[in-house]
Amino acid sequence: MPKAILTINVGSLVEGVEGEHTTIHIDEKVDFNEKSLPGLTYVKAKINIMKLEDELNIAVENFITKINFICSKCLKPFTHEIKIPFAERQFLFEQPRDIEDLDDLYLVDMKNMTIDLTELFRQEILLHFPLNPLCSLKCKGLCYVCGKDLNKNSCGHASAAAETAKDTHKPMAHLKELFNRAFAEGEHSSIEIKASRLGGTPPNKSSNGETASTKEKSSAKPNKKKI
Ligand SMILES: [Zn+2]
Ligand SMILES: [Zn+2]
Repeated sequence: MPKAILTINVGSLVEGVEGEHTTIHIDEKVDFNEKSLPGLTYVKAKINIMKLEDELNIAVENFITKINFICSKCLKPFTHEIKIPFAERQFLFEQPRDIEDLDDLYLVDMKNMTIDLTELFRQEILLHFPLNPLCSLKCKGLCYVCGKDLNKNSCGHASAAAETAKDTHKPMAHLKELFNRAFAEGEHSSIEIKASRLGGTPPNKSSNGETASTKEKSSAKPNKKKI
């Protein structure tokens, strides 16, 4: 019963005086019964529990969990560690009369004198999920043309694609050229930006044999020659 690990007995605290507190450490694998967290999830945390007037204050420190993701670029499975420095919830002794949001309601199980941290942990983990999981910040992803994992070896398509992108994706340069041409031709009164003309400029010639990565960097700089 992995889930029972996150149930903590708080009998002595509930019956104790206000301000009494205790610290426990969790280092377990938990079944969150959650689609995004299949199987057992490793969790480690320091938990400070303090008795207050009508509730227990639960402060979670240095919460660490390890989640299995699929890299959004190269589709490789990898384990990602999520670190949550601090999280806090209040577990009430009694259910209040008017409840706004049941999801945010935490209650002490007064019958068994326990609190269940599963939902708190589940919420915190989901809140800290990466939007775009990457196996590495340097992940090169898969080739758009042949599907090869570019982290393993290069197929040559990527540098060709970068070259094409460098030549064609300069919207401001094309606009400037378009305006220059329009003025040169004396079309002051009716300047029409025609889509066909946007793509019609000749590609810039590459000055040397740079690699794909240095090309990307250099293409990010403004083109001083033209401006
Ligand atoms: Zn990757
Ligand atoms: Zn390829």
